[in-house]
Amino acid sequence: DLKGKTAIVTGSNSGIGLGVVRELARAGADVVLNSFTDRDEDHDLARAIGDEFGVTARYIRADLSKGDEARKLIEDSGRCDILMNNAGIQHVAGIEDFPTERWDAIIAIMLSSAFHTAAVAVPMMREQGWGRIINLASAHGLRASPYKSAYVAAKHGVVGLTKVIALETAQDPITANAICPGYVMTPLVEDQIPDTMKKYDMDRETAIKEVILERQPSKDFATVEQIGGVATFLCSAAAAQITGTTISVDGGWTAR
Ligand code: NAD
Repeated sequence: DLKGKTAIVTGSNSGIGLGVVRELARAGADVVLNSFTDRDEDHDLARAIGDEFGVTARYIRADLSKGDEARKLIEDSGRCDILMNNAGIQHVAGIEDFPTERWDAIIAIMLSSAFHTAAVAVPMMREQGWGRIINLASAHGLRASPYKSAYVAAKHGVVGLTKVIALETAQDPITANAICPGYVMTPLVEDQIPDTMKKYDMDRETAIKEVILERQPSKDFATVEQIGGVATFLCSAAAAQITGTTISVDGGWTAR
């Protein structure tokens, strides 16, 4: 039961972040949603989650490509018992063509922002006497693929950062872990299916199994609810001694 706890999930107006927010709210946590936009629909989304689960739900805008905004997000939340660093972007290109601006943005949004948010959250968690830091890494935090230099470097960096935070908080009632999904069904992945079907002249099922899930032995996607369930487990009493590690949710990808 996470009643009375405040969970901040970065990049949570869609996809995995939104799924995690919903599962933490279902478990009773007050939630802070975030992205870089500030639209009515962002605030409406938070309001709807608050109504559905009977918790306090707020949306706070912060562009996590900027370190000072990442720090301010945690400060403005007022309280942080659970921090999930989830915001992310992707760019695919060979190293010789990889735009420096994309490299810098990916490292800033996915790696440096986790440093900045944790730097503010850890002292708050120590003061409050409890804390959970959950970094949404990836199978690409443990394995590499070509043409994803910035993404793979950032996700490996996130796994390393998670271990250091775990060691520095090992004797506090705080844990830090990384979740490493393979392919998760999100709007982003759904959007790739029609293009893949067309490109390879395949039906939907073949395109999913042979192209998109080529490296995922289960030949099935994880769901955002499942990622939310793992995050909720990491916040439970059973997980109090789990720290500094990775939990793969990848249908067997990294078993190979
Ligand atoms: P998504 O695009 O639905 O979510 C990304 C979120 O990050 C969005 O809310 C977006 O608004 C936010 N964001 C992007 N740039 C931001 C910025 N500058 N400041 C603040 N927020 C920003 O994609 P998703 O699939 O839900 O991805 C969530 C995380 O999961 C990412 O870190 C991604 O790398 C990781 N991941 C996804 C999969 C997958 O298969 N979908 C697999 C492994 C890891």
